[in-house]
Amino acid sequence: MKQSKIEWTEATWNPSIGCDKISAGCKHCYAEVMAKRLQAMKSPDYENAFKFKIIPDRLETPLRVKKPTKFFVNSMSDLFHEEMPFEFLDKVFETIRKSPRHTYQILTKREKVLESYFQNRTVPDNVWLGVTVEIKSKKNRIDVLRDVDAKIRFLSVEPLLESLGKIDLTDIHWVIVGGESGHGARPMKPEWAIDIQEQCDEQDVSFFFKQWGAWGEDGQRRSKKANGRFLLGKEWNEEPSFEIAFA
Ligand code: SF4
Repeated sequence: MKQSKIEWTEATWNPSIGCDKISAGCKHCYAEVMAKRLQAMKSPDYENAFKFKIIPDRLETPLRVKKPTKFFVNSMSDLFHEEMPFEFLDKVFETIRKSPRHTYQILTKREKVLESYFQNRTVPDNVWLGVTVEIKSKKNRIDVLRDVDAKIRFLSVEPLLESLGKIDLTDIHWVIVGGESGHGARPMKPEWAIDIQEQCDEQDVSFFFKQWGAWGEDGQRRSKKANGRFLLGKEWNEEPSFEIAFA
């Protein structure tokens, strides 16, 4: 287990690593940068940098953690990568079922694989299932997610690259919005983020504003830390509403 700096989780668990870019949001993939760095440091498992691979040795890691923990599953990969064997995924979900004290946040950009995997399987109650929607043309991922019977469904709107327009948030419990950081980061306009916050408010969905990223609310480039996490003069740290989700 690794403690995480990601604002909306507590720890990361990576039973697989590596990935391939499939979406506009992947352009400056943080996991790829990290994987190359780890390869240069000769870190175990990263001999092929960002090439997808499963790591069976890590399958039971969360079982050894006694304290109830919120895990982001696969900060270094996409759990529903096309090369992920379903038999291995079954083992990942077996660990999840065996540890109901933990919460597992799973996020994917591969809605087709997600749909196919859960066609004849159920989602454990301690899973929060999410899709990334960084541009308008990927809103179809929300419809696929909605059809999967998960207790908590969420959207990661990060990096937000354009206005998403009207979003149907029916049966979605949580939306995370954030701008891009790092080299070559693309700016997020305040009106795009505010529009999503307002739609969450109207549709009674929890809203989390993660960060501005490299470009501030005023359109100026500076450090991620200096740009901060304020939107409309406050921090938004809402979490999914269980009363609604478990009703
Ligand atoms: S899906 Fe995620 S991990 Fe994979 S390349 Fe895109 S951003 Fe990186």
